[in-house]
Amino acid sequence: EVATAHLDRIAAVDDRVHAFLHVDREGALEAAAAVDRGEITGPLAGVPIAVKDVVTTKGIPTTAASKILEGWKPPYDATIVERLKKAGMPILGKTNMDEFAMGSSTEYSAYGPTNNPWDLGRIPGGSGGGSAAAIAAYEAPLAIGTDTGGSIRQPGAVTGTVGAKPTYGGTSRYGLIAFSSSLDTPGPCARTVEDTALLHAVIAGHDPRDSTSINQAVPDVVRAAQIGKNGDLSGVKLGVVKEFTGDGSEPGVSAAFKESLEALVKLGAEVVEVSCPHFQYALPAYYLIAPSECSSNLARFDGVRYGLREGDDGNRSLEEVMSLTREAGFGPEVKRRIIIGTYALSSGYYDAYYGQAQKVRTLITRDFQSAFEKVDVLVSPTTPFVAFPFGSRTSDPYQMYLADLFTIPTNLYGGPAISVPCGLSEGLPVGFQIMAPTMADDRMYRVAAALE
Ligand code: GLN
Repeated sequence: EVATAHLDRIAAVDDRVHAFLHVDREGALEAAAAVDRGEITGPLAGVPIAVKDVVTTKGIPTTAASKILEGWKPPYDATIVERLKKAGMPILGKTNMDEFAMGSSTEYSAYGPTNNPWDLGRIPGGSGGGSAAAIAAYEAPLAIGTDTGGSIRQPGAVTGTVGAKPTYGGTSRYGLIAFSSSLDTPGPCARTVEDTALLHAVIAGHDPRDSTSINQAVPDVVRAAQIGKNGDLSGVKLGVVKEFTGDGSEPGVSAAFKESLEALVKLGAEVVEVSCPHFQYALPAYYLIAPSECSSNLARFDGVRYGLREGDDGNRSLEEVMSLTREAGFGPEVKRRIIIGTYALSSGYYDAYYGQAQKVRTLITRDFQSAFEKVDVLVSPTTPFVAFPFGSRTSDPYQMYLADLFTIPTNLYGGPAISVPCGLSEGLPVGFQIMAPTMADDRMYRVAAALE
């Protein structure tokens, strides 16, 4: 019944929301029937889920919202998808996103944008806007996202939903279509903190098929969320990042953030201002590291191995076919990043760009480490502005990149962070971000649940 209700809801509203690129009605109902027959039990057995289209699903189309992968059906499941299936969670379908997870608005999807359920003329965030919008529109109770620079948290913030980026290596990357391998982190999206934690617990944990997977016990995020619900934060030190409280945010976003901070103080938390002087270089460092890794990862889309092949008329050389395929198959943002990344990795430029960005990354990690000697978690708004109207940030890439101002430092460090709804600004949702030390994911869930 739960799966059917959500499939019906998708059928009723998704022509307006466009959260899904593919709906797997049959597969979802089959999985739900297995739970009905008592074949699978567990806390989330029978709870349906939407999966971002950058995650491979065996036999179900997976495009990463790119023309270059149109029609591709993966021959295997990502580890996290295997875990969803094992937990008895019916997969409703695949959600829309910016092409190859590059963007903050879903406007770079090759299949058209997703509309924010709060205002259909506005963006749902990105790159995982489809997952967040599906939850906000009650098309799915839970969803999977991936967060390379904020793509779980920022869509959560602008759709009034919860999104968590686990510790890098805490959730397996096996079966994700790689964007920036040293940053990519799959994670949970939901409407409440406790639901987010329940899903986190299903997908997290060591995977020998991912060489950067952490072989340690997963922090008890479900218990932390339950403890947080009792609302007692006495003894918890919240660090407000000084560099994030300037005039970078819209006034309504700053106001909602401050109000929530006061609410946390009433629950017993102590607020300490901390300085993270290198956070101001996070955005430029990320926009060298992520494109560099993407230029290497996306080399596999050559018209030979997967999906689209353009101009193969028997008379053209392999190079010509590759070049025509990539010209036709990649959208403008993906091309921009491949070109930036190829340049940054070129011999002679490597030290000046990629090498330099890696050094900045180390300084940002040290900022986090010294901050966590003084406080338990760091807090900030999730993103500087509420959902913006379509088209308002596409003409200048930098304006789009600014959406990631507060989310990116965490990715460069590798720690966990969560976005929780914290009120409205001009009638649109604002997100509150809580960042924790690596492998202390439980800490952020406790504070997030108290705030909810
Ligand atoms: N907006 C960021 C980017 O465009 C984040 C993407 C992500 O987290 N996948 O790179």
